[in-house]
Amino acid sequence: MARIGVYVCHCGVNIASSIDVERVTKAAGKYHAVVVARNYAYMCSDPGQELIRKDIREHKLDRVVVAACSPRMHEVTFRKTCESAGLNAYCFEMTNIREQCSWVHENGDEATAKAVDLVFSSLSRAALLQPLTVQEVPVTPAALIIGGGIAGIQAALDIADSGFQVHLVEKTPSLGGHMARLDKTFPTLDCSACILTPKMVDVGNHSNIHLMTYAEVEKVEGFIGNYKATIRLKPRYVDMDQCTGCGLCAEECRLKDRIDSEFDSGMGKRSAVYVPFPQAVPLKYTVDEEHCLFLTRGKCGKEPACQAVCPTHAIDFSQKEKKVEVDVGTIVVATGFEPFDASRKPELAYSNYSNVITGLEFERLISASGPTGGKLIVNGREPRKVVFIQCVGSRDKNLGNEWCSRVCCMYAIKQAHLIREKVPDSRVTVLYMDLRCFGKGFEEFYDRVRSEGVIFRRAIGSEIYRKGEGLAVRCEDTFLGQAVEIEADLVVLSAGLEPGTGSIDVSKVLKLSRSADGFLMEAHPKLRPVDTATDGVYLAGCCQGPKDIPDTVAQAKAAASSALIPMIRGKVFVEPISAQVNDDICCGCRVCEAMCEYKATVFDEEKGVMTINAALCKGCGSCAGACPTGAMTIRHYTDDQIFAQVESLSRPFTDE
Ligand SMILES: Cc1cc2nc3c(=O)[nH]c(=O)nc-3n(C[C@H](O)[C@H](O)[C@H](O)COP(=O)(O)OP(=O)(O)OC[C@H]3O[C@@H](n4cnc5c(N)ncnc54)[C@H](O)[C@@H]3O)c2cc1C
Repeated sequence: MARIGVYVCHCGVNIASSIDVERVTKAAGKYHAVVVARNYAYMCSDPGQELIRKDIREHKLDRVVVAACSPRMHEVTFRKTCESAGLNAYCFEMTNIREQCSWVHENGDEATAKAVDLVFSSLSRAALLQPLTVQEVPVTPAALIIGGGIAGIQAALDIADSGFQVHLVEKTPSLGGHMARLDKTFPTLDCSACILTPKMVDVGNHSNIHLMTYAEVEKVEGFIGNYKATIRLKPRYVDMDQCTGCGLCAEECRLKDRIDSEFDSGMGKRSAVYVPFPQAVPLKYTVDEEHCLFLTRGKCGKEPACQAVCPTHAIDFSQKEKKVEVDVGTIVVATGFEPFDASRKPELAYSNYSNVITGLEFERLISASGPTGGKLIVNGREPRKVVFIQCVGSRDKNLGNEWCSRVCCMYAIKQAHLIREKVPDSRVTVLYMDLRCFGKGFEEFYDRVRSEGVIFRRAIGSEIYRKGEGLAVRCEDTFLGQAVEIEADLVVLSAGLEPGTGSIDVSKVLKLSRSADGFLMEAHPKLRPVDTATDGVYLAGCCQGPKDIPDTVAQAKAAASSALIPMIRGKVFVEPISAQVNDDICCGCRVCEAMCEYKATVFDEEKGVMTINAALCKGCGSCAGACPTGAMTIRHYTDDQIFAQVESLSRPFTDE
């Protein structure tokens, strides 16, 4: 018979205020296989764990049950406690009497009775637990980073500087992401390009970084330590080795200055063969196959002008899409955000008037490298009356975008300052719901800009319409409680941040969950903010939620160090809770194969039975549930263990 020790935690008052822990302990002591039952203020504390270790040794316990908080919090802690006293970690069972009992019930007697029943059901299962062995698997010393914005750049540099190989995949022709498109950055007003470009150049020159731009990750197979990724390289129609970035091709292109530049948010123009911006990394040209006359119509004069003029013969229209496979141990997802499409709020007339622009468009307009060379010119003249409307596409229940985008207050304050700097006699009004200036130096920056004469008005902008030569913004002033009309030559919509399509695509490839707001979901919001539910896959930057640059960089560094842990250790441990097949009764129907999300089932053609790749198996149980013969079972969650637990609950404990 098993020899079980039971430990009931008070969790301070979290459990003990609504559950009579003494009564639970006494009741547990009556279970036939229980040798010792105790309670303690904090079982997870050092003295609490020592209590368990001592009992394992002195009472020769072969099973331990701790009734405390959620196993998500402390299962690992107590498994390690058992192991350190010589007991197999899988001979431990945890009962959640906090989240599933004390926190959700007020009546002490009923909560106590439920806690006793939960402990008994755990005891019934614990008595049938079997020791399991953890296997070790070697780790490929390389990382894959998806997304080349500031998050991906920082993570790549940190991992590469630690001596490991990095494959950095960026879907556009250049590194940089949104930060490359910003003019100055709040609150310090550093020039964005000046602080970003050196990092981009470092990536381009780093001997440990294999940069793949104009590329996307198509497929990822494997498990932590041993991922295989298939990357699709889109044809650039330019030989990367030959192109010197001289730009003659773009100069001669017959569509020169006729195509909207994505980098300049459509306010500037480019050729069909282009680099997105002068500091692009790599500084290699790309032929845009959507517009190039030769690629779309098969004809571009006598000979494509770009090809004729290229001194190194780098233009190569015969290029086809290529696929490469890379082996990596860990993956960092840094796919960023997309700005909210302001035309989804038609009342703000973004699609109707060229002097209604978004915050990102403003960044290009004010930038010295932008379409006007940094001159604030809209519709041919310098605007004198500028209105900012905050929270466009954020904190908006009607749109389903309930989150705060965290950067719009600060970027609007920054942009208001830049306008006053360029046009000192301008009247700049910011219409806000609340101003959220929460970061280091943010409040001070807001105070400075207010003292420079920018008007901050607590009002919700509801409509924009033409008035005379200019525009009028109708808004509800929430201090005065009345509708107000403000005239403007330029309206800037502070559009929020949304999950990007690139992140959604990657979430499908890597089977990552997304939270209710659509951003990629971390494993735990407080304690594992850069991990995902998939071991070896980490999140960095705005793909996880809106953030400014300092927070993005901090998270990228955190993701890099998490990704480095298994690579530095050189091995990972494979969780032994996985599916197993009884060859004698497996009929080879392959029903389980269709159920397995993780491709962990492998059919043995010779024997005609299914086998399991334990490293891929997550122990989810889908296969076991579907198996018609009962050949497939899950270690640690066998039928007899589960039935014992359920049956115990159907026979509630009585003191008599
Ligand atoms: C108007 C505006 C002004 C701002 N001003 C400031 C400021 O002054 N100060 C400040 O601190 N912050 C500012 N921010 C916030 C700042 O832009 C972000 O913090 C930063 O860009 C986040 O970087 P990221 O790398 O997470 O994402 P991104 O910059 O979005 O980069 C993501 C990268 O991943 C790539 N990608 C996406 N999907 C895939 C895929 N499937 N495969 C491969 N690559 C992919 C994208 O092409 C992109 O290059 C501003 C934001 C806006 C909108």
